[in-house]
Amino acid sequence: MLNLCTLSDAMQISELRQYFPQLSEQVYSKPLVYLDNAATALRPQSVIQKWTDLSQKHNANIHRAVHYSAAVATQEYESARDAICKFINAERREEIIFTSGTTASINLVAFAFGEAFINEGDEVIVSEAEHHSNIVPWQLMCQRKKAVLKVLPIDDNGCLKIDLLPELITERTKILSIAHISNVLGIINQIKNIINICHSKGCRVLIDGAQGIVHTKVDVQDLDCDFYAFSGHKIYAAPGTGILYGKKELLEMMPPYMGGGEMVGNVRWTGTTYAPLPLKYEAGTQNLASVPTLKPAIEVIQKMRVQDIENQENNIVKYLFEALLEIPGLRIYGIPEDLKDKIPLFSFSVEHIHHEDLALILDKMGVAVRSGQMCAEPLMDRFGVTGMLRASFAPYNTMEEAEYFVASLKKAINMLM
Ligand code: PMP
Repeated sequence: MLNLCTLSDAMQISELRQYFPQLSEQVYSKPLVYLDNAATALRPQSVIQKWTDLSQKHNANIHRAVHYSAAVATQEYESARDAICKFINAERREEIIFTSGTTASINLVAFAFGEAFINEGDEVIVSEAEHHSNIVPWQLMCQRKKAVLKVLPIDDNGCLKIDLLPELITERTKILSIAHISNVLGIINQIKNIINICHSKGCRVLIDGAQGIVHTKVDVQDLDCDFYAFSGHKIYAAPGTGILYGKKELLEMMPPYMGGGEMVGNVRWTGTTYAPLPLKYEAGTQNLASVPTLKPAIEVIQKMRVQDIENQENNIVKYLFEALLEIPGLRIYGIPEDLKDKIPLFSFSVEHIHHEDLALILDKMGVAVRSGQMCAEPLMDRFGVTGMLRASFAPYNTMEEAEYFVASLKKAINMLM
C-alpha cells in the first residue's frame, strides 16, 4: 500500500495523484476529471486508512470509558485537535472546537454570540457574496434578537467594496461575518484589512474559511480574527468534520450551543455547570472515526504545498482565465485586479445555454463540474442569472486536465448551439 512517507518532499503531481485512489476511476469509460473540489475534495489513501483502522480496530466512545480502545480513540481524537491548532497557528488547543462542518461552526457562533452579545437594534454585517451557510444562521439570529442584518456589496467583477465598510459599521455593529474566499467567485478577499477596519471600530469578525483554508496558509494569530470556521471534507479529511477556531475569551463568555453528554461539569435539578473549553461546545457523541482523519489530511496538505505544485496551480489559473475568455458568449464571475488573488476556481455562464445542459454533457465526457446556484442565491440575483457552471481545481489536477476541460466545454457548447 502507498505510504505517506513515500511521497517525496519535492513531489511531482504524478506522484501525488497515485495517493488519491478516486483519480484512477473511469466514468462512462472515460478517465474521471474531477473538477468539483470546491464542493468536496477527494480523499487520500492515508485518510481512508485512518478511518478504516479506527473503525476496524479501535471503535470506542471518547472521553468516557477507561478501557484500552477508549483511550486509543480519545488520544486519536485529541491529537487531531493539536494538529489543527498547529496548522492554523492558534495560541491554545482549547480554542479549537470540533463541529460537523463550516455550516455547524457558523450556526454555533450565530447562536451563542447572538445570545451573549446581540440586543434589539444591534447590527450584523455579511457580504453580498456569501454562501447560504453564512447568511441564514445570521438571519435566524437577527429574527430572534430583533437585530439588523446589513450587506457589504461587491462590484461587477465580484470584488468586495471594502471602501464602503467603514461607514457601514456603526456603534451598533457587533460582528461581521465574511468569506475568506467565495465558493463562487474564487477571489481571495483582503481579510486582514477587513479585520483591522472592524476591530478599529469595536466590531468582531468571523471568517468563513471553507475555501480559504484550502488555498491559503491561515495563521489565526496573525490575522487576529475572532472566529475562523472551516470543513474537514474540503481539506481531504472525512466528511462530517468541521472546525471552529474562536478566541478563548469570547468562547468563554458565550453560552453553550447544544446541551448533552460530556459538555457539562455537574448536572443537578437545581442547575448545570459546563465543562471547560473545548468540551463545552462538543455535546454528545462526536464523529470519532472521522475527526482523527484531519491529522493525515493536514500531512498531505503540507506535502502538496511545494513550489512545483503551486506553480502548476498558478499556471492553470492563467491558462483558464485566457482560454475561457476566448469562448464567445462566456462570462466569468469573479475577476480580481490581480490574478494572483484568484484561486483555480472559475464560475461562468454561456449566453443562451443552460448551465445544467453543459454540466450534463461534460459529465458524459468524464468531467465532473458543478452547476446551479451554488448555495449563493443572492449572488446569482446580483448577477441576474439563475445559475452558473463552476470548475474548481485541486493541487492534484493537471494542466492536461485543464486543457481537456476547455476542449470538452467547447465541444459541448457547439453541440448546444
Ligand atoms: N461557506 C463556503 C464559502 C463554502 O464553500 C461552503 C461549502 N460549499 C460552506 C460555507 C458550507 O460548508 P459545509 O457544507 O461543509 O458545512
